[in-house]
This record gives sequence, structure tokens and C-alpha cells, in this order.
Amino acid sequence: MTHTAQDTADLEAYRGQVRAWLAQAAVPEVPLDLEGRFAVLREWQKTLYEAGFVGISWTRAAGGQGLSPSHQLVFSEELARAGAPQPIGLIGVDVVGKSIETYGLDWQRQQLLPRLLSGADIWCQGFSEPESGSDLASLRTRAWIEGDEFVINGQKVWTSWAHKAQWCALLARTDAGAPKHRGISYILVDMSTPGVTARPLVQMTGDDEFCEVFLEDVRVPVRNLVGQLNEGWAIAQDTLSHERGSYTLRRRVEYEVAVEEAVQNLRGHVGATGTEPPDRVLEQLGRSYAAVRALEALTRRTIDRQLTGDIPSPYDSVDKLSLNEVEQLLYTSITDLLGPFRLAADRAPFGLDGPRWVKEHYYSRAASIYGGTSQIQKNIIGERLLGLPRG
Ligand SMILES: Cc1cc2nc3c(=O)[nH]c(=O)nc-3n(C[C@H](O)[C@H](O)[C@H](O)COP(=O)(O)OP(=O)(O)OC[C@H]3O[C@@H](n4cnc5c(N)ncnc54)[C@H](O)[C@@H]3O)c2cc1C
Repeated sequence: MTHTAQDTADLEAYRGQVRAWLAQAAVPEVPLDLEGRFAVLREWQKTLYEAGFVGISWTRAAGGQGLSPSHQLVFSEELARAGAPQPIGLIGVDVVGKSIETYGLDWQRQQLLPRLLSGADIWCQGFSEPESGSDLASLRTRAWIEGDEFVINGQKVWTSWAHKAQWCALLARTDAGAPKHRGISYILVDMSTPGVTARPLVQMTGDDEFCEVFLEDVRVPVRNLVGQLNEGWAIAQDTLSHERGSYTLRRRVEYEVAVEEAVQNLRGHVGATGTEPPDRVLEQLGRSYAAVRALEALTRRTIDRQLTGDIPSPYDSVDKLSLNEVEQLLYTSITDLLGPFRLAADRAPFGLDGPRWVKEHYYSRAASIYGGTSQIQKNIIGERLLGLPRG
């Protein structure tokens, strides 16, 4: 896909609009604790939505702005460079919402998506189960039809934000006799339905951001089905593609800002305090900088794939694997600058915001797990891009 001079001029004009808006916006301070962070970022999502900055590349019919993925990228870049946070409902906006936009019924698009974009409704993704993570197609949550309702029974796990969510995009087995990739349906579940229980689980960051979710005789209208009965696997692949590809675009910009900030901290403090980081740590930070730049080049290709509709694609796995490797290298590098002050992060050297970087470092460990582990991404790349034999 070639970009014309007109495209570039449009994007730069848009960048100007975004900068002007951000310059006058009341950008919130984000508390580190989960409850505070959730409340502030939900309100921030509403502000961004009302200003036309959520769902930028979504169709207007679904409540979006009808612009291109490149406009979305420009916005994300400017948001991060202004030190402003992302909205909270990204599982909805970047991941499941896009699949509903593509495969959903008219009522789902019209009634659910504008509320998803504004943050009025928070969404979660009910895919993984205790015995079905990497081998997702083996999932055992069952749903059957009685009259005009599904009756759902089963258990999900690691469901991010389930305790805060109003809606869940759930995978359930609707034909137990079919081969495992068939017989799965993609069903939208109102989390306030009787029989749904979300029990929070604490992560190593100290936050209980994800949950186990129990479903006991949960009755959901049949019109909440997305796509065709028993054909939810293809839609699940679309959702995972967004999680592996689109999400990388947003995260990449945050890494760019993080590495620049760490470098600025070092420039301002090294020598002044008589303390210098070891060469090994500086070298690692340099490699992080190069890796963030390489990820930028990769995400340009992701934009092109989105523009040409080349999703889902095994290249989503290249994006996800790269995101994971860059994120872990970067946050390890920054926390290595803290040295022993990692244990007393509030007294961090070089003017670094210790508590924040320690938390980012802990969270980065999850990057090689969520959205499919790195081993699974490598399997996909090996088999589907490199043509290597299975196993
Ligand atoms: C922070 C976080 C948020 C999450 N949020 C959600 C969410 O919102 N919704 C949701 O549905 N899920 C979510 N997950 C779950 C995530 O998708 C699963 O953890 C992931 O798919 C791995 O599944 P598992 O944990 O069952 O590990 P397993 O599948 O049991 O894997 C265990 C280990 O075996 C390896 N392995 C398994 N199969 C293979 C294979 N074929 N080849 C090579 N190695 C293999 C894996 O790479 C891994 O190292 C989240 C996870 C995390 C960490």
C-alpha cells in the first residue's frame, strides 16, 4: 500500500489537531493503585470519546470516526508524547469490539459499541479456561439452546477486568460432537446476568486485574450470538489477531516514550551525583532503544496490513512476539538502572520514578503469556510463515 503526499499532509494536519486538543486538555494524573487507576482512566476515556478520539479508525455506523489506522497511530503517538494515559477499556476498543464491528448483528453494533467506546460499558474477553489456554480450542464451557436463550455452564480464568466489566465476549462449546475447532460459538454475556460470578486473582504487580469467572446456568438471549452458531472459532481468531497486532501499535509508542524518558533522566543526573550506571546496564539500554526503533518499523507494516485487510495473519504473531521481547528488554533495562534501589524504589537514583518502573517491569512478565504465549507465537511463525513441520 503506497502513501501519497496527500495522505501525509492529511495525517500531519490531523497530528496538529490532536496536539492542539491535548495542549488544552486536563490530562489526569494516574494513581498507581488499581481502584484509583480504573476510576481515573474510565473518566478519561469518556473525555477522549466526547472529543472524537476513541474508535478513530472505526466506522461511523459503529460510533467511530471513520478515519484510517494511520490516524489512530498518530493519535496514540501524540497521546504518549504528551505524557497522557491510554483509556481503560482497551480490551473492548482494540480487541473484542473490533470483532463485533465486523461480525456482529446490527443491534449489537448500534446498541453496544458506542457504550463500549465511551467507557460506559467495560468489556472482558472470556476465552481461557483452567485446562484450555494455549490449546484454546479444547475449551469445555458448554452452551445449549432452550427456547430463545442459551444456557451456559463452565469456568473461565485469567479474564482481565471481569470484576469491573459490564459485558463479556465469551467462547462456549455449542456442539460437543463436532471436531474441536468447530462447534464453538462466540456469545456476548451481560455480566450482571444471574449465575455469573467473577472472583479476582492477584498478580505479581499486587493488582487484582484479572479473575476467574464461574458460569452456572447463565441464561443469555440467542440474539447475543455473534456470527453463526458453531462458527465462533474464526471470530476468535479475528479477536486474537487484534490483540496480537493492533494492541502492539499502542504499546510501541509507550516504549518509545519510556526509553526517551530514561535516557533524559540519565543525561540530567549522571555525573551530577557522582554515581554512574555500569556499562553493562547502559549497553542494555542502548539495545532497548534500537529494539524500540525496530518495532516502529514493524508496526508500519502492521498498519499496511490493516489497510489492505490482511488480518488475521501469521504476521500478527511476529508483532506479538516482537512486542513481548522489546517490552521485557526495555523494562528490565530501566529497572537495572535502579540497581539495589529496586527494593527501595521511592529513593531511586538518576531521578527515575522507581515505583512506576518496578511495576512496569513486573507487568512486562505477562507480555510473553497473554494473547498467546511466546512459544505459541513461535509455533505459528515456524509452521505458517517458515513452512517448518509441526512439532
Ligand atoms: C496478564 C494476563 C492477562 C490475561 N487476560 C486474559 C483475558 O482477558 N482473557 C483470556 O481469555 N485470557 C487471558 N489471559 C490468559 C492467557 O491467554 C493464557 O494464560 C495463555 O493463553 C496461556 O495459557 P495457560 O496459562 O493455560 O498456559 P498453558 O497453555 O498451560 O501453557 C503452559 C506452558 O506450556 C507452553 N506450551 C503450551 N502448549 C505448547 C505448545 N503446543 N508448544 C510449545 N509450548 C507450549 C506455554 O508456552 C507455556 O509456557 C491472560 C493472561 C495474563 C498473564
